[in-house]
Amino acid sequence: MDKQAFIEKIAAYAVKYAKKYGNKFPSVVIAQSCIESGYGTSELAKKAQNIVGMKHKGARVSIALPEVYYKDAAEQNADGSYRTVKNDGWYKFKNWEECIEGYYQFISISHYKKVWEADSPEGQIAALKAATYWTSLDLDKRLINLINTENLKRFDKIDTPLISKSVDFMGKKSAQRTEKICKFTPHHMAGNMDPVNCAIYHRDKVEASANYYIGNDGTIVAGVPEDRRAYTSSSKENDQQAITVEVANCSKEPDWKISDSAYRSLVLLCAYVCDKYGFIPKYTGDKNGSITLHKMFKPTLCPGPYLEELIVNKYFEEDVKKAMKNTNITEIEHVWTSGDTLESVAKKYNTTVEKIALDNWYPRERQIIVIR
Ligand SMILES: [Zn+2]
Repeated sequence: MDKQAFIEKIAAYAVKYAKKYGNKFPSVVIAQSCIESGYGTSELAKKAQNIVGMKHKGARVSIALPEVYYKDAAEQNADGSYRTVKNDGWYKFKNWEECIEGYYQFISISHYKKVWEADSPEGQIAALKAATYWTSLDLDKRLINLINTENLKRFDKIDTPLISKSVDFMGKKSAQRTEKICKFTPHHMAGNMDPVNCAIYHRDKVEASANYYIGNDGTIVAGVPEDRRAYTSSSKENDQQAITVEVANCSKEPDWKISDSAYRSLVLLCAYVCDKYGFIPKYTGDKNGSITLHKMFKPTLCPGPYLEELIVNKYFEEDVKKAMKNTNITEIEHVWTSGDTLESVAKKYNTTVEKIALDNWYPRERQIIVIR
């Protein structure tokens, strides 16, 4: 089984039992399984079906098999040196699925209370470390790293509403939308504002607004309703076609960074918008792409170098695609030639006119046609 297949398999169990036991961040146990078991290749994984390195603590894990598996344990000391614990006892399971359920039983004691109270995967990992689930000094960093590189946070979307609050704009700082939504434009607040306060500030004080506001902790606040166009990007043409978002910064100039939580929310929000309006995230470097930037329309740094780099290097759109539900999308680059009609193009790709969601830069010479 390759790494990706292992992740998908464990993720299915993790999401199922995180739901059952009320844990918010299955990404954590997925990452632990990958690292602790070497993607299912360790001795414990093979002989005891224990992929999360759970030491035997008696009846705490009721789903475990009655027998105990014995093997040496390598533990790290606070000074970084290692010691070996001879013949340590480990839980044994029937299969990996029961091991994942066992994991949630294992941490369902007051000693791990802070793990359940954490409001991010990073917080959950810090709480596990503080409770000495493991003794490795750098495992926390490796887990967070893996969660980010494999985008494991996509599995954390368990029944939590994406948009948790809204500010009523009362029809202000917006206009009727007359164009189809086919773009997404992330902006930066150039400051670390509370998203509700930023929306209210826009509504009541300045000539600016956005459809959504994302706070430093990842909270998404709805502002100008989606069916109205906001005043965000210094371009009527863009804002008529875009869902626009203001994101809080966690650092000042020159980088204008945004937090991982804010980035995650931005990815999920973009995925939601793309799914809902039927377009794919694509940065083309100019205003014709479906991901556009404020700086394309006005001399500004917006969305700030940090976010701009993630977008320009396509990390953002790749993350969004992974988070999208509607993945049954084919992209075909079609070069329009004279005589082409929608009907003839649809016929050529064995689809229907209705199924071709035309991007807004039609009828440019080269066009990505999206078929779902
Ligand atoms: Zn902007």
